[in-house]
Amino acid sequence: MRADRDNQAVHLDIATLLFAMTVCMVTMAVALPAVMGEVNEPARRAQAGVVLQGLGWVLLLMSGLVDRGSMTDRAVSTLAMAGIAAGLALNAAAFDLWCGRVRENRVPVLVAIVLPLGYGLGFSSYPFRVGWANGLLTLQMAFVVAAVWRKPAVPVGKWRWLLVLSLLAQMVVTLWRGVLGAFFTESYPTFLSPHPVNYAFAIIANATTVLSLMAILLAHRDEAARELERLATLDGLTGVLNRRAWMTRASTELSVSVRYMHPVAVLMIDLDHFKHINDSQGHDAGDRALMFIARALQAAVRPGDLVGRFGGEEFCVLMTHADNAAAKAFDLRMRAYLAEAVDRELGFALSYSGGIAMRNSAEDRIEAIIKRADEAMYNAKAQGRARTLDARDLRLQAA
Ligand code: GH3
Ligand code: MG
Ligand code: MG
Repeated sequence: MRADRDNQAVHLDIATLLFAMTVCMVTMAVALPAVMGEVNEPARRAQAGVVLQGLGWVLLLMSGLVDRGSMTDRAVSTLAMAGIAAGLALNAAAFDLWCGRVRENRVPVLVAIVLPLGYGLGFSSYPFRVGWANGLLTLQMAFVVAAVWRKPAVPVGKWRWLLVLSLLAQMVVTLWRGVLGAFFTESYPTFLSPHPVNYAFAIIANATTVLSLMAILLAHRDEAARELERLATLDGLTGVLNRRAWMTRASTELSVSVRYMHPVAVLMIDLDHFKHINDSQGHDAGDRALMFIARALQAAVRPGDLVGRFGGEEFCVLMTHADNAAAKAFDLRMRAYLAEAVDRELGFALSYSGGIAMRNSAEDRIEAIIKRADEAMYNAKAQGRARTLDARDLRLQAA
């Protein structure tokens, strides 16, 4: 008995390989929603994509159990094609969203409709339906490949190359099946016959299923990591950079400014009598004032400049390629905007005191620049508030 078993060669048949892949896919379809919990749009599409592809494969295997060429065969096989094609379209859309692309590609949806329609209508011609289905399924896979391959708009892990590789391999064998079925029908009787292309397809399809599961989970994790990163760098109330993130990025900008020898200015502002605003208008009004100032700063800076919330009602702006005159002009623009908009937006008066400091030398560190801007700002408070002073002018006065 034992010797018998040892002598047995590995016996693979296409139906078993495809059955194993289908079990894998159905397991994924059930397990993904269970383990992922509450999810957003891309994950929902990916999950629905797996469910439809799983259903499609279950139906395709079931079509092998009914009379070949019968009406039941036609109906079950057509539904199977619809499921697989729609599942691939949903997966392509999910990966597009996960890669930060918001413009929807409608072509995969169109293919998911046209594929089963043509398949059902032309079912009686075996060469047509095999060529048609495999040709268009190759196209659907190409859309998933394109979604994963194209340069993502947000940071996405290296996992995508594994999925691209296995999908490209699956595209080659799917197209090969289509061409054999359509033009060399004698040498390719059915999708379960022991033909090399069927072995290649079934083995690669198993690999793609596993890699798709990995890709879906890792894309989901990448997205969660990006959200954490966003939450860790942005101020929760105003949406501008928090102190730590501002300092890190400002240091980097400073190094760049030294390398390319362009000036950098820092403007520090602190709202005047903010405690009084909270006391007289309420804490919510205070919050609205903070959001208003942050919005105004963010709208006034140039791309590449950094706005950060430094403390309670203290903000910091790093201006690249800006000298004293540019920083002062920015401050004047902010004051002009405040004078014009504050009544309309808040319904109460709001002013700030500011301090400007420049990078003085290549060795100047961000902490030292901030300290000078801070000193200038406190001088502005001391001189009666609602004004901005320049650290350089103060030093001139002191000399
Ligand atoms: P000065 O003109 O000297 O700057 O006076 P001030 O009242 O603005 O300064 P102070 O530092 O005494 O008060 C700052 C206030 O900012 C106190 C604090 O309750 C308030 N504050 C800090 N963070 C927040 C916030 O997130 N929301 C609101 N509404 N208030 C805040
Ligand atoms: Mg204040
Ligand atoms: Mg303060």
